[in-house]
Amino acid sequence: MQNQKNKIPVGVLGATGMVGQRLISLLENHPWFEVVCVAASEKSAGKTYAKAVEGRWLLKNAMPEKTSKLVLYSTENDAEIIAKKVSLVFSAIGADKDLVRKIEEAYASFGLAVVSNSAAHRWSEDVPMLMPEVNSDHLKMIAIQRKNRGWTTGCIVVKPNCSVQCYVPLLRAWEKFNPQKVIVSTYQAISGAGKTFEMWGEMLDNVIPFIGGEEEKSEKEPAKILAEIKNEKFELASTPTISANCIRVPTSDGHLATINIQFEKEATKEQLIEALRNFKNPLDALNLPSAPKPLITYFEEEDRPQTRLDRDLHNGMGISVGRIRKDSVLGWKCVALSHNTVRGAAGGSVLNAELLVKLGYIK
Ligand code: NAP
Repeated sequence: MQNQKNKIPVGVLGATGMVGQRLISLLENHPWFEVVCVAASEKSAGKTYAKAVEGRWLLKNAMPEKTSKLVLYSTENDAEIIAKKVSLVFSAIGADKDLVRKIEEAYASFGLAVVSNSAAHRWSEDVPMLMPEVNSDHLKMIAIQRKNRGWTTGCIVVKPNCSVQCYVPLLRAWEKFNPQKVIVSTYQAISGAGKTFEMWGEMLDNVIPFIGGEEEKSEKEPAKILAEIKNEKFELASTPTISANCIRVPTSDGHLATINIQFEKEATKEQLIEALRNFKNPLDALNLPSAPKPLITYFEEEDRPQTRLDRDLHNGMGISVGRIRKDSVLGWKCVALSHNTVRGAAGGSVLNAELLVKLGYIK
């Protein structure tokens, strides 16, 4: 299904929210995709995108003109209409998980690929939780998903939580040293809560030591991302054990993390840095428009990565690492950073969609 410019027509569900807006912005000049449908809740349906988002456009760059004129559909009620216009939808719906699961399944049952930012389907047994540089092989679960659910061209692929993006690639890069235990502390930006400083005055000059549900996601999701598929099921990685502290800090975008790590095998600092620099990225050969090259950048400077300086590395899709040094408790520690609404949300899901296209999963 291609339009006159030979781009693939796509839809964005939850298009008016923080992640939805990022998606609209990232897709504006995308070489493969063109946004032809936008959808949100019932209260926005029927309005133009510009009208529905009036006073709550959160990005520095202007709202794309073409999208601003599109009339919003109801995510919940207009699946069948949208399915006639597109072959893929990005889901950034902020609603109850049961409802999101139901909505995403409805779109897949109409034959669409659903590329989701929501946590709703992350633990569904046949849904890949995809960070493509780390587990692109999990896409083979789509055939099993289609068989289980009676879908022919439809499928659901989800992206892991924004908090894990900066350290899961390190666990993969350091796999040969067999990571056993990890303590991660995240310093998470306020856009992760869908907010700006104007909306959330409490965050000025403040740190809030709690983000609902985040520590559980940060501890558990890596086991599925690093899983192997055996007998048509995900066999969760049994190591490393992860303990997470997730803290909200007064930055607009970018989740920084400190990572303390115990390996089973001996490693030197040079070997750890070399493993990051030589990370074997399965996407390198595929030329996907949003794939950062390299995925991981190691900074030698003692005061990097910094949230404001480094979050936009490779258009916000890169992972920055620094300060690898000895730790007296677990052996090694370092600092890492990724952009939460780009790499950790909209950009990550665009990359997932590009991989689906490249590997022939889109009808
Ligand atoms: P948000 O700003 O609150 O936006 C929510 C979107 O969902 C809006 O478009 C809203 O439409 C729509 N919506 C709300 N209730 C709905 C319903 N009952 N049916 C259909 N659509 C409905 O949320 P967000 O921060 O963009 O997050 C969206 C999703 O991405 C969430 O699942 C979140 O967990 C996930 N996520 C967010 C981040 C991040 O950094 N912010 C990172 C990773 C994942 P209206 O405008 O019409 O209300």
